[in-house]
Amino acid sequence: MMKVSYSHLAGQFADPEPIFESLRELIKSGDFTLGKQVAELEEKFAGIVGRTPYAVGVGTGTDAIRLPLIALDIGSGDEVITAANTFYATGGAIATTGARPVFVDCRDDFCIDVDKIERAITPKTKAIVPVHLMGAMSNMPRILEIAKAHGLEVVEDACQGMGAELNGKRSGSFGVAGSFSLHPLKNLNVWGDGGIITTNSLELAEKLKKLRNHGLRDRDHCDFFGYNCRLDTLHAVVGLHIVETFDWIIGERRKHADFYDQEFAKIPQMRVAPRDPNMRWVHHNYVVFVDKRRDELLSFLVKQGIEAKVHYPIPLHLQKASEYLGYKKGDFPVAERHAEIMLSLPVHQHLTQDELGYVVDCVRSFFR
Ligand SMILES: *Cc1c(COP(=O)(O)O)cnc(C)c1O
Repeated sequence: MMKVSYSHLAGQFADPEPIFESLRELIKSGDFTLGKQVAELEEKFAGIVGRTPYAVGVGTGTDAIRLPLIALDIGSGDEVITAANTFYATGGAIATTGARPVFVDCRDDFCIDVDKIERAITPKTKAIVPVHLMGAMSNMPRILEIAKAHGLEVVEDACQGMGAELNGKRSGSFGVAGSFSLHPLKNLNVWGDGGIITTNSLELAEKLKKLRNHGLRDRDHCDFFGYNCRLDTLHAVVGLHIVETFDWIIGERRKHADFYDQEFAKIPQMRVAPRDPNMRWVHHNYVVFVDKRRDELLSFLVKQGIEAKVHYPIPLHLQKASEYLGYKKGDFPVAERHAEIMLSLPVHQHLTQDELGYVVDCVRSFFR
């Protein structure tokens, strides 16, 4: 039996020596907080996203969503619209500013249903946080239009969509800010927690740099009380190695997803999300819809050594954390249905053709 891991980490760090070498240099320099490597990674990262001149490294992807909201003076008494089917962090980042998360249902491409945003807007709404879930892209042109018409800010949760493109424009370059995670399991990762914010606004970038570092203008001047959520130099050193392979990472993921798409098109019991030709996914997760017997297929695959998963089995509005928001089952039927039929298969950059073929064979044999 073959073992097919969900995570890329074992393959990615099979030979960590070159990274150790750079870390030895860092340790000699002692430049552990906001060392020059942080600025180097920020610059490289702004280049990856393109069209955003500024990037600000922070402690986590969650900080990368929360800090721009705080910088835009969003907090208690305000409402922020986001998708009901997202990772907990999106809701947490909004709620911990003091603002109320307001959920909207998604479409079959996992992103917020733009036709349902306007009815969620109230006089208290201050921002929209679209989530580029699974490595797809939200309909940013329409979201920007709605935001403009209602005077709202747009902060993109691009934690799963790093490198994803819509009409040739990358995620994180549409809104006033783009939020990215460098968590070990994300497409561009480090050896622990990290995050990056992209923005076109020099003013916002400067405010974010102070917010992440106690509100400090310089060593002895504190302009306002802020946070301590810097990107560690140690992680930036690791990130500088990984960033060199980023195009390869998303290229491999796309190749693997294309292979699955082709093979699964032949299996009538499952389907994939619609693939909009103007959208280039990065396949943070490769998700199929299995209308019947999803859980049986999941445990069958796990028994065959394939680490299949479900992202995510319970939508945000039905979590205990959301009780105070007053939602109930049935409020977001698409997100709720997805939770019952979604299945994520390994798609990472280090999979071999044999492993991909094995996954397809196992799925086929289950339905046979
Ligand atoms: C990972 C993730 C986050 C948060 O990132 P952390 O670095 O773990 O804080 C936020 N939103 C989404 C959609 C994510 O997948």
